Formats: sequence, C-alpha cells, structure tokens
Amino acid sequence: MSSRVILKSELLEMILEGAKRLHPKESIVLLRGKVEREGIRVSDVLIPPFATYGRGFSSFPGHMLPMDFSIVGVAHSHPSGSLKPSVGDQNLSMSRIMLIVGFPYAGKENARVYNKQGESLVLEVI
Ligand SMILES: [Zn+2]
Repeated sequence: MSSRVILKSELLEMILEGAKRLHPKESIVLLRGKVEREGIRVSDVLIPPFATYGRGFSSFPGHMLPMDFSIVGVAHSHPSGSLKPSVGDQNLSMSRIMLIVGFPYAGKENARVYNKQGESLVLEVI
C-alpha cells in the first residue's frame, strides 16, 4: 500500500481557501485521483453535492458518496486547529485517504493526511 499522497500546491491552496471561507464551520470536499506506484496522486477537488456544512464531520453521510471510483478520499477542515482525526472521523472508512486541514489554514503545516486505518501518510505538495 502506498504511504504517500501527492498533491498539487494549487489544490492544497483551494482546500485551504475553502476552509477559510467556511470557518468556523467545517468544510468538506472530495478528492479525485489515482493510485500510482509512487503514491496516491490527487488530480482534482470536488464539492460534494450533499455537503451540509457546520454540522460536524461525524454526520457526514458516507453512504451518499457518489459511485465514482476515481474518488480517492475526502478532505475536511478542523476549525479547532487540531490535525488529528476525531472519534467521528475514525468511523469513516469509505475512502482511501482523509486529508485534514486545521485553522488557521495557512499552508502545508496546517494539513495532514491519513489512511483508512488512521495512520499518518506523507503529504507531498508539488
Ligand atoms: Zn474531522
């Protein structure tokens, strides 16, 4: 299993900007990409049609994820600034990776990525 997530800086910027805009509510976006030999390469960020911002990520309707196998993960924000998955987050296992961005959403130092098992992966911003 790949332990690396490759993300273009423009996409990270988009996720951080979106998180800033919704703060102090949580933002949620889907990550589209491909599993490659070097790691999981994120190519696109999608706004989920069913996103209900501000209710807390634990109420995220995982069963409503589109049947789109190019979705490799989910990114969401932590207005608290914590970069650790919450208890609710740990119950989510519908995607390969989970990217968490924390307040103040300034840059890579406010982002961390995890696999399904909750293990921290290397985030490579290119
Ligand atoms: Zn969370």
